[in-house]
Amino acid sequence: MVDVTLAAVTCAHPSGTMLFPAMWVSATLAEPAHFSWLETGLLAAGIVISLALFFWRFGPILRNILHSKQDADFSLHPVGRRVWDFFWEVLCQGKVIRQRPLPGLAHAFVFWGFLAFALVSSNHIANGLQIGFLSPESSLGKFYFLFAAAWALLVAVGITGLFIRRFFVRPIWFGKKVSIESGWIAFLIFLLMVSYLGAFFVSPGGAAVKALWWTHTLTLLVFLPLIPHTKHLHLVISPVTVFLKRDGFSNIPPLSGDEDFGLVAGKDVTQLISLQVYSCVECGRCTEHCPAANSGKVLNPKEIALGVRSYLNELGPVSDVALLAEARPETAFANLLSMEAAFECTTCGACEYQCPVGIQHVPVIVGLRRGATNTGVWEDTYGTKLFLALEKNGNALGLSAMERDKFIQKEAFPIFDGTQEYCLWLGCMGGYDPKGREIIADFARVMKYLGTTFGVLKKEKCTGDPARRLGNDLVFQTLAEAGLKAFETAKVQKIVAICPHCVRTIANDWREYGIAPEIEHHSEFMARHKDRLPKQASGESIVYHDPCYLGRYRDVYEAPREMVRQAGTLVEAPRSHERSFCCGAGGGLAFLGEEQGERVSHIRAAELAGTGAQVVGTACPFCNTMFRDALAEVSTAPPQLLDIAQLTARALPKMQETGIMDQGTGEQ
Ligand code: SF4
Ligand code: SF4
Repeated sequence: MVDVTLAAVTCAHPSGTMLFPAMWVSATLAEPAHFSWLETGLLAAGIVISLALFFWRFGPILRNILHSKQDADFSLHPVGRRVWDFFWEVLCQGKVIRQRPLPGLAHAFVFWGFLAFALVSSNHIANGLQIGFLSPESSLGKFYFLFAAAWALLVAVGITGLFIRRFFVRPIWFGKKVSIESGWIAFLIFLLMVSYLGAFFVSPGGAAVKALWWTHTLTLLVFLPLIPHTKHLHLVISPVTVFLKRDGFSNIPPLSGDEDFGLVAGKDVTQLISLQVYSCVECGRCTEHCPAANSGKVLNPKEIALGVRSYLNELGPVSDVALLAEARPETAFANLLSMEAAFECTTCGACEYQCPVGIQHVPVIVGLRRGATNTGVWEDTYGTKLFLALEKNGNALGLSAMERDKFIQKEAFPIFDGTQEYCLWLGCMGGYDPKGREIIADFARVMKYLGTTFGVLKKEKCTGDPARRLGNDLVFQTLAEAGLKAFETAKVQKIVAICPHCVRTIANDWREYGIAPEIEHHSEFMARHKDRLPKQASGESIVYHDPCYLGRYRDVYEAPREMVRQAGTLVEAPRSHERSFCCGAGGGLAFLGEEQGERVSHIRAAELAGTGAQVVGTACPFCNTMFRDALAEVSTAPPQLLDIAQLTARALPKMQETGIMDQGTGEQ
């Protein structure tokens, strides 16, 4: 190795020495010339103690995960998706950077730096044990240690940035409690990097190099056992969590038998849930985007994850003690996992979408609801009324089926008889709600204009969506089976619906009981035919609200926007696409009272009205119904509220003027 005094020289030395003005620096990492057997022995003892402390905590965590109940529906299939998620979310840190670019990049520097340091740290420890395998003098060593030095710089910058953010910027979703342990971890990571970089500034023979080597080593030995004792456990298990998470977005798993009522006690917590809650890094991304947490409700999705984790730590995975806080007030974490919180969730999925370590909150929250509803613990006047309406009338609004018949007759909708291309699914809103009926009627006009044949089912019941999300499996099963039977009897091949909740429930949730015919949302149908639909040159500004069940759940963002662009000038809301803010109706909450805090629909309506757009464009009858009153509440001159079917239909010429035969009814 060559050390060079640098005063005025600024070019690369042929020996490979990097040149910086007026300082001693070498392009080669300095390592202690030799280690005494005493030093090697001390190091070996340090490693044993450090590993023992690591497993002292990591062992029980692993046991809790492995002893949790098996996930009955778990399958590694599709492996391709798992490999992609691992590559994108873990190796590329894509999700973290995309959702929070600056802190995400800082985190990514630390993560990538750790990967680069795997070889450096292994060789560092091996050197002390006198079995080093990568010499700093070798060509590979010269290159690799410099490469790692560049990463060390980035890690130091990244961790400093994250430290400043956590301790000085302190975003509210980190919570009120300052995490001292995070400060220590940040300090240790910084020290690791500085002690590594320092070895480029000292000569190999001196005492300084040994001091730096021991500083680096002791930091490593202290850092290792801290990992499972802190939220930095995610370093070890979150890559596994991301790889193994349940396939699909916010999927609710089937119950595993007659004795399974959902998440009632610790013994019902599954291995996937355990793995996920132990991965929580307490970043608060879920809370930041949660409509309940943002409107002053008790629910905080981060606390759902931490609540299950605390339960497992305190009571273990085979406990019979109830998970819900109301039933176990004496526990140390009595404030976490309350029934009140579980029933405030709109199942919007924003938490799951944001979580960087693969935690799937919705199955846990719905699991808790199942546990409370299926066992009769949850008592709610609105909930009881809703379930009765579903059982008795077959629709969530509790109206007689004759009301739907009258509407069908009024609109002269043909009954599906197997000769038409599509079955037009009305849903509870389209069949019974006045505004939902307007949307259906306008969408039917669009279909007629396009010459697409369709019919409606003579008898149609709710998909069971609100029962499913509120945890009433019996009611859901009855409705799903009735729906599947109705489609089978009518020989339906293709379905189109105006409600993303119906689309989701029929396409995904019903799979537990059979496979429904192919279904699509009316936005997808219309976007596919948009070239045949008239454009409007009004230039009217239309702000589009992404419904959670169409966007995050179905990944459909562009189709409704294409229809908005046909009708006017598209305006984007401050929170749109994957970050769209819920209207407050999902998860059955449209039918329950919203007692705590501000109304979610008002927050969103104010945001939409605040864009100054002339029209609010929706693609879900539930969003539409939520905004109906909310827009009037938050604005003195509220924008008009129209579904994309209404936006499209208003450009259509009157049916009589088109001369197009009404293929549904046979009328002109
Ligand atoms: S699904 Fe939505 S409402 Fe429920 S916890 Fe997650 S972010 Fe909050
Ligand atoms: S659940 Fe996920 S998003 Fe929420 S705090 Fe934990 S790691 Fe962060």
